[in-house]
Order: sequence, then C-alpha cells, then structure tokens
Amino acid sequence: MGCDITNNSDMDMGELSLLIGDLAAHIQDTMKFKSMPAITMQDDDENADALLGRTAQYDPQNKVITVYVTRRHPKDIMRSIAHEFIHHAQNERGEFENVGSMGEGYAQADDHLRNMEKEAYLQGNMCFRDWEDGYKRNLMESIHRQNSFKRRNNTMKIHKWKNNELNRLLMEKFGLAEGEYNRSEEEEENEEGEEQLEEIDTREEDEAFNDPEAHAARYKKSKKKDEEEKQEESFRDSVRTLMEKIINLK
Ligand SMILES: [Zn+2]
Repeated sequence: MGCDITNNSDMDMGELSLLIGDLAAHIQDTMKFKSMPAITMQDDDENADALLGRTAQYDPQNKVITVYVTRRHPKDIMRSIAHEFIHHAQNERGEFENVGSMGEGYAQADDHLRNMEKEAYLQGNMCFRDWEDGYKRNLMESIHRQNSFKRRNNTMKIHKWKNNELNRLLMEKFGLAEGEYNRSEEEEENEEGEEQLEEIDTREEDEAFNDPEAHAARYKKSKKKDEEEKQEESFRDSVRTLMEKIINLK
C-alpha cells in the first residue's frame, strides 16, 4: 500500500517522495500496522528560524503526519517521518485512547505518553537506520551487478575482436580482398554500449549520499580501468601473435 504525500512546500519532492515511500514500506513491515498514514510536507518560515521549532507531528484522529521541511536536510526530514510513523503504529494499537491533552511538557508529566515517546524515538531511529543501511546495500549490489554485466560485455568484445582479427589474417594470408573485412561498425557498436553503461554507473554512485568514500572509490576505479585496458591490450597482442603463428604453420 502506497503512502499519500501532499506537498505544501517549495521543496522539490521528486526523488524524496520515492525514498519516503520506500521508508514507509520498511517501517510498516517492521511495526506491522495495517493502514498507511497520509503525509503533508509543510513550509513554515517562522518555525524554521526558531531554535526549538516544531519538526513534525502526528494527528491520531485523521491519521496524518505533518512534517515541517523548510531549510532541513532530507535525512533529518526522513528521520522525523520515521518517528511519527511509530506514533501511527501506537494509534492502531489503541494507545491514543484516553490520553489527556498533549500540551507542553506531556513527555515528562504523563508516564504513558512518556513511554510512547520513548518507543517512537527508539523504534523511529532504528527503523530509519536499518532502512538506510539496507538501501545503501541494495545500491552497492546493483553497482556490482552492473560491473559484472560490463565484464561480460568486455568478454564478448574480445571474442568479436578475435574473430575479426582471425578473419583479417586469413584474408591476408590467402590474398583475399581487404575491403571485405569491416571492423569499424562492430567496434563503434561496442563502444556505444560501454559509454551507456558508464553513465548509469556514475549516476547510481552520485545517489550514494555524496560521501567522500564514494569519491575515493571512483578514483580507485578509474586507476583500475587504466590497468585493465593495458592488460587487455597486451592480451590482444599475444593472441594476435599466436594466431599469426598458427596461420603460418605449414
Ligand atoms: Zn513523538
């Protein structure tokens, strides 16, 4: 079941709403609530400037989470939402029945509300943390899958190259027309494929929360690529030499 998000703010919700939907599904799975609350993203300039301004609230009657988003980091917004989701789970368990007014100081004055608040902090933060780790792990796995696809693609490239090279050598050996051998078309095709893969790769890494480790990994990867290209070139040289020897055997 999806999560109904209303954006009453200036914030661009394109990517964030997908992440919130994913987080909502994870928390629902963990906390086992049946219905999904609605979420409203709210701009509030005055509140944003207040040192202890409101961050989010949950309305148990209408099952709506309101989150104040002005000048907040997306991760902070998501952590707030996770917290309010736990209050929603408590609501489904009937824990909001017979609670008094939730005015200022409710988290200290009322033991029941205090325990509800404790659970929301603990479970909300842990749910967010587990979701975040899982999300990053999935991201890394998809990068890994893409790299192995790329390796397979390179192997195919070598096979095609070998066949073409063998063709060329045979034609030379038996004096056939050189024009019949056309390697440029296939090579261009392969290079295009490779460029596309690299584009996908970079985009996915950029989404990995922009941490410095990702930059270091990218640098390492480009060094590794140079190394691989050198190895590939010397591999081609030795295969070419071998094929020449085979063809010239009487
Ligand atoms: Zn709370």
